[in-house]
Amino acid sequence: MGNQRKKAPKHKDPVLLGLPDGAIESSDDVDAYITKIGGVPVWLDAEKLPSPKVLECGNCRRPMYLIFQGYVPLADSPYHRVIYVWGCNQRLCMRKEGSFSVLRSHLVDPEYLAAQKKKEEEKRKKEQRKKQQQASPFGAPAGFQLGDLWGASSPSTTPVTTSFASVASKASASAQPPSSSSNSLADAMSKMNLDDDTTTQHVIPPESIVSFPAENLWITEEDLNNMASFGIDMSRYQEYVDMQNALLESAAADEEWSGETYEKQTLPKGVDKQFRKFMERVECEPSQCVRYEWAGVPLLYHQLQQPLSSLAGRCTHCGSPRVFEMQLMPNVLSVLPVAEYASSNTSSSATGDELKAWDVGMEFGTVMVFVCEKDCHPGDVESPSHVREHVVVQYEKD
Ligand SMILES: [Zn+2]
Ligand SMILES: [Zn+2]
Repeated sequence: MGNQRKKAPKHKDPVLLGLPDGAIESSDDVDAYITKIGGVPVWLDAEKLPSPKVLECGNCRRPMYLIFQGYVPLADSPYHRVIYVWGCNQRLCMRKEGSFSVLRSHLVDPEYLAAQKKKEEEKRKKEQRKKQQQASPFGAPAGFQLGDLWGASSPSTTPVTTSFASVASKASASAQPPSSSSNSLADAMSKMNLDDDTTTQHVIPPESIVSFPAENLWITEEDLNNMASFGIDMSRYQEYVDMQNALLESAAADEEWSGETYEKQTLPKGVDKQFRKFMERVECEPSQCVRYEWAGVPLLYHQLQQPLSSLAGRCTHCGSPRVFEMQLMPNVLSVLPVAEYASSNTSSSATGDELKAWDVGMEFGTVMVFVCEKDCHPGDVESPSHVREHVVVQYEKD
């Protein structure tokens, strides 16, 4: 009895952090197996693209910018796995439904699948032998079977841990998974243009791709020993808030924009207990852009008004509860040129100069990504899949 006890589940994986680690030349931004912020989305299989809707702002219908792409395969899964996060770079779309989106993509790893099939085949044979033994009058008595103990733990249902860290080291050693060739979107599109008879379901028109420069992420474990218990440096944040206030004040001078969603913000209102906790934790590694913890607990920007589980919701494909996987941190907004790109955006907007001057791009306190707990795979194992997942965005408090 005693030896059947499971390993104590108390062991807690550290939170993994993604830190900026140098620009990726746009000509080199063709790898689906790295983890980055900005850049263009590179698909696991350029022949099977997601619906272009995932790149479109649900509010203004304009193309969104890729903020994050991460290669995050799960342990004991036969799939290569990538998470993509997009955001609309229009300040007017912030705090509105649909201005951020997230996609979870799978591509089967044929080698892993073959190994898994072999394992299952061996198991089946073993069980068959056992049955034959039981059928014989001199065989082992029927009843308790050791096989039952293991039978339930098929790879797709065991709890999974991520190999984010190993992925990072893999990526920096530029080792590519053997089974795959990554394709840039540009390649994919030129291919599609040449070949009208492809079986591709979706075509993503080139004009719908807008992008920031890409920045590689270095993945490291969070070290809480760096936690400063005193003297939180708020200066950088204060600077950011001051800049925002200045912009909002000048915008408020224009009657058209005052009194609507955007009100003058002052620091004290945004600083609650939870926010202090957030800043303290960030101080351990101020350059962090991404926090990753499969099925973990997000670091909230401020307190929630409702339980996290109700915000996370359920998988639209299989109905399983969603779990937290990762979150984007405010430093993303200083690494990516969001304001620069927003103001240089010569859009068709008729309201003209004021709006353009006022648009400082996207903003957020944190963008939390929630994904299907089962990491489900719609359709055939062999064909790539894309599932839209869920984001919860927290902003500065009004
Ligand atoms: Zn928008
Ligand atoms: Zn699911």
